[in-house]
Amino acid sequence: MTEDVHTRLIQVGRRHNGAALAPVVSSSSTFELASVAEGREMALSASANRYYSRYGNPTVSDFEEAVAELEGAEAARAFGSGMGAIAAVVLGLCSSGDHIVSQRQIYAGTQMLLQSVCPRMGIDVTFVDGTDAQAWQEAIRPGRTMLLLAETPANPRLDLVDLAALGAIKGPMKVVDSTFATPLSQRPLEHGCDLVLHSVTKFIGGHNDVTLGVVAGSRELIDWVWGFAVLQGAVASPHEAAAGTRGLRTLAVRLERQCESAATIAEALEAEESVTCVRYPGLESHPQHDLAVRQMDLMGGLVTFDLTGGIEAGRTFVESTRICRLATSLGGPETLVTHPASTTHVNLLPDELAAAGITEGTIRMSVGLEDPGDLLADIRGGIAGA
Ligand SMILES: *Cc1c(COP(=O)(O)O)cnc(C)c1O
Repeated sequence: MTEDVHTRLIQVGRRHNGAALAPVVSSSSTFELASVAEGREMALSASANRYYSRYGNPTVSDFEEAVAELEGAEAARAFGSGMGAIAAVVLGLCSSGDHIVSQRQIYAGTQMLLQSVCPRMGIDVTFVDGTDAQAWQEAIRPGRTMLLLAETPANPRLDLVDLAALGAIKGPMKVVDSTFATPLSQRPLEHGCDLVLHSVTKFIGGHNDVTLGVVAGSRELIDWVWGFAVLQGAVASPHEAAAGTRGLRTLAVRLERQCESAATIAEALEAEESVTCVRYPGLESHPQHDLAVRQMDLMGGLVTFDLTGGIEAGRTFVESTRICRLATSLGGPETLVTHPASTTHVNLLPDELAAAGITEGTIRMSVGLEDPGDLLADIRGGIAGA
């Protein structure tokens, strides 16, 4: 397909829809077979979607095809959550004795998988600064490093990984968590990376009503991941997959609006006296702004900033805004704020917080679809309250 991505978002993922325009939910867990031979073929095939729904399902495969097409991939596999996808990639591709290089700036769930589950499986993990292309290269143990695991833009300070530099590294498989960007903003496979994955729960689902994950790449790699996934069992429900496909239909208008509002808010925050540091890839003050312009078509809907008043100011801010709601997650219609120092990272000591790039006054904001003027007024009220 050569059409513009706005057109493609409306065309993709319709193979099993018949005349229906909205995604059709094929809720059957099993399918009648024409013969024993057909059953045998399907039981052995990684792409069977009319056999038994843990193996594959028509509604789920429509969503998978849609994502594969948007990412420029041969195939994709959906999972019951973003963590389901990440766990299947890590545990499906690595064995005892293997080694993984991951960036330090990474989603907390991924970090826990790498820090607590991988060592039990005999898989070693080295954490590096993802913004340092040299550090990735230097951490590789030839013959042992199976995966390089990147996330860009990354939790929580929106640090970026140079996708072209990562893609050029020879040897290990390069896996990119592209949740914050979506395929609309960046396509890691075009830069030579091997797998791209998303928590569909966030921007692609887009309405805070879906828990879903997906990974895309070559047919060979996806079939390999499937071989583990079908036994792991963290499969996508057809209901969630249908909601994922519906999310893709409106992704462009939602994300473009969120990016525009996020840019407006980031600029306004830079002028606020009690805000010390604003992180947004679209701001010239972002330390990797040039890289953002090179590899991202849209700068994203997240803004991270530091309030001067420390832990109290952070807590008061998230409790006194009325339009910006205090909740974890991101990418939905409602603007959400989190205060890592008193919630997700509450167990860390001050120097550990600093190592994670978090201050006591750090706020992470996922900008929603409300009027940006109303949001700014609410944010200024929150800052005044803090
Ligand atoms: C939310 C998130 C995940 C985990 O996805 P779930 O759908 O919650 O399992 C992974 N990576 C990033 C960057 C996320 O934001």
